[in-house]
Amino acid sequence: MAMHDTNEHTRSYFAATANWQTDYPRLLGEHSCNVAIVGAGFTGVSTALYLAEWGYDVALIEANRVGWGASGRNGGQLIDGFVDVNKIERRLGADAAEVAYQIGIECRDIVIQRIEKYSIDCDLRFGYLDLALQEKEIDYFRAEIKRKQERNYPHKMELVAREDMHSVIGSDIYVGGLINHGNGHLHPLNLCIAEARAAEQNDAKIFEQSPVTSIHHGACPRVETEHGVMHAEKVVLAGNAYLGKTEPKLYGAVIPAGSYIIATEPLAPELAKELLPQDMATCDQRVGLDYFRLSADKRLLFGGLCNYLGRDPKDITATLRPKMLKVFPQLENTRIDYEWGGNIAISINRIPQFGRIKNNTYYAQGYSGHGVAPTHIAGRILADVIAGDSARFDVFERVRHLKIPGGKWFANPTLALGMLYFRLKEVLQ
Ligand SMILES: Cc1cc2nc3c(=O)[nH]c(=O)nc-3n(C[C@H](O)[C@H](O)[C@H](O)COP(=O)(O)OP(=O)(O)OC[C@H]3O[C@@H](n4cnc5c(N)ncnc54)[C@H](O)[C@@H]3O)c2cc1C
Repeated sequence: MAMHDTNEHTRSYFAATANWQTDYPRLLGEHSCNVAIVGAGFTGVSTALYLAEWGYDVALIEANRVGWGASGRNGGQLIDGFVDVNKIERRLGADAAEVAYQIGIECRDIVIQRIEKYSIDCDLRFGYLDLALQEKEIDYFRAEIKRKQERNYPHKMELVAREDMHSVIGSDIYVGGLINHGNGHLHPLNLCIAEARAAEQNDAKIFEQSPVTSIHHGACPRVETEHGVMHAEKVVLAGNAYLGKTEPKLYGAVIPAGSYIIATEPLAPELAKELLPQDMATCDQRVGLDYFRLSADKRLLFGGLCNYLGRDPKDITATLRPKMLKVFPQLENTRIDYEWGGNIAISINRIPQFGRIKNNTYYAQGYSGHGVAPTHIAGRILADVIAGDSARFDVFERVRHLKIPGGKWFANPTLALGMLYFRLKEVLQ
């Protein structure tokens, strides 16, 4: 099977089961608005929805389709937490760390509130299972529960002992687990297109198949596509791993890395129940982690395989299926119906990047593989700064953005070497 990244959605399970196909117009001719947003993934859509709800005249301009990038292709694992709070404490102190912690709680809540407010049909299920392959990871789980209890964490968490693992997963390779009842999983593309529709209902203008070719900064910025111009008072850049050279100042600030998923045929109800009896989303603790869960129609969606070389693997199924069979040998004779991949944006210190270019163009990017919930709070923080409240934006703007050593052209091989180092450390320890 080959991947097709054209202007239409990649051939994912999510695109095949989208509740509807968006069909917004291209940007043609001259227009103006208060805020022009480049990129209609979760970051752009979330920002647009807040601003539209608050009465701003918003234009959301997408190169392909709403949710075409990582937001429509990801594993749909809804996980709270925004950033490693200790990293923020070391860099910026305790007050900033508290802001980062609260943001981590809020980001998941925003998603749930949006789903409720706009009655979004996106297969939301609660329950998240972290899996341990080694005993020392269970120590980490214990410490994690303690850390969270000390901070009055709002969601129930439970350790699962080795002998009880079959109550949560039909696999023998794990030595324990940690359940978080507040996290869960959902259909990411259906969430994204529904949030865009909600923004439109609040009078946001959405343009698809309109790649932004250049951005002119200054007192009255303008965003240009091949056949159109959008004049704006403020601009938001939300292209994340797909922004490329649209804004030269951001080129090289994050590294696009490929992540890949396969989807089986729908499983018999008894088999689905055997694999994941409580229908939780799961992942293990390795750097190149496996993450998997059931879809609403009981397929196993199995993801993994991070690729830093900027090239998709020749055969995604051939690479991921053996990993899936290691976890679930029961699937030996199960057909794979879909395979796809997408780009995540890695920031070198793994801290999401917020910043501005001149004083009226803002950006947020670099969620480093964990973005379904974080993009939603990023949208809130971007909308806040545009509306005049820069408190939380300022905290993250203070974090220095590291560019990849070796320069733009060598960015991915350098990172690949770095990641190889971490993988080796993991294998050898
Ligand atoms: C395979 C995969 C699995 C993942 N699994 C999970 C998961 O289970 N849980 C989780 O929390 N996170 C996961 N992630 C990460 C998560 O999907 C991302 O962090 C998040 O979706 C980023 O959203 P975004 O809106 O910033 O970027 P994107 O969704 O990538 O959107 C950027 C958009 O900008 C557009 N764009 C770029 N340049 C231009 C331009 N010049 N003009 C107009 N438009 C432009 C692109 O077309 C794209 O639609 C996964 C990612 C991948 C790829």
